[in-house]
Amino acid sequence: METNTRILSSEFEYFEPKSVEETLDLLSRYGEKARLIAGGTDLLVKMKRELLHPEILISLSRVPELNFVKEDDDSFRIGAATTLSELEKNPSIGRTLSALYEAVRSMAAPAIRNMGTIGGNLANGSPAADTAPPLQAFGSFLKLKSKNGERTLPLEEFFLGPGKTALSFEEMISEIVVPKPPVNSGSAFLKLGRVSFDMAKINVAVYLEREGRRCSMCRISLGSVAPTPIRAFSAEKLPQGENFRESLIKAVSLKCQEEIKPIDDVRSTLKYRKAVCPVMVEEALKAAWERCGGSL
Ligand SMILES: Cc1cc2nc3c(=O)[nH]c(=O)nc-3n(C[C@H](O)[C@H](O)[C@H](O)COP(=O)(O)OP(=O)(O)OC[C@H]3O[C@@H](n4cnc5c(N)ncnc54)[C@H](O)[C@@H]3O)c2cc1C
Repeated sequence: METNTRILSSEFEYFEPKSVEETLDLLSRYGEKARLIAGGTDLLVKMKRELLHPEILISLSRVPELNFVKEDDDSFRIGAATTLSELEKNPSIGRTLSALYEAVRSMAAPAIRNMGTIGGNLANGSPAADTAPPLQAFGSFLKLKSKNGERTLPLEEFFLGPGKTALSFEEMISEIVVPKPPVNSGSAFLKLGRVSFDMAKINVAVYLEREGRRCSMCRISLGSVAPTPIRAFSAEKLPQGENFRESLIKAVSLKCQEEIKPIDDVRSTLKYRKAVCPVMVEEALKAAWERCGGSL
């Protein structure tokens, strides 16, 4: 039977490496026996519920190289151990990456946002992870590091199933790269939970680019409606090159409804998620279009 004892029932060894290099050495040495711990807000819950019994914990809390937000000419680079609160307070993120800012603001309470990191939110592999839809909508990719080198993966290829990601036991996320949106773009994130600061029953992020009355680029990502956060690839094609109008927004929203594959779970039902999906997509499309400077 699943328990939640509020204590950690098994022994583990604890390491606090001071650099990425040292972290990768430890991951390589201990492999499957080890787990990284960033804020611990997902991992410790799983350990207390006795769903995980790592023998080794490798903390990222003393690896300053993983804690940064850097703005280049064409991208934002976010260190994996950057906390949700640090993202929330970063003025460039608030100004330029509205959907990511809104997602972070919707997550948990400030105490959890002070601990939880963006890398932990992604690596946990939850279909409901709130930072995943905005990052997918912006066309982001991840840098994964191991002792054998570095690889770069689009976010769509990172999530493999509930709790499953493309990370090997020897790898870590080192940074998230978000292409810088041009001035004629806009984005929005919406989420429904049972109460405020709850995990999503469903969440959606939309990214649009505008040329006059036409939509020149559309990306839509949804969470908690499939085994992983998903891009609505068929729906995204409908507005490309089209005049943005109410009937088009309706068509895109209904296409999203066709693309999702929700289930019944503790947070919601398949039926509710199917019903509410087009309403949320519609609202997010309108908000993102307005932020592009467009009107209907
Ligand atoms: C009360 C409460 C409310 C919450 N509300 C929300 C919410 O509204 N929305 C939401 O999305 N989440 C929510 N969460 C979940 C959690 O807070 C977030 O997912 C958080 O971002 C996890 O980050 P962390 O640093 O604490 O991860 P950790 O718990 O430290 O790690 C999570 C997993 O990621 C791995 N990991 C961590 N960093 C890396 C890395 N750099 N490379 C590779 N693997 C890594 C760990 O080994 C572990 O498997 C909530 C949690 C709690 C307890």
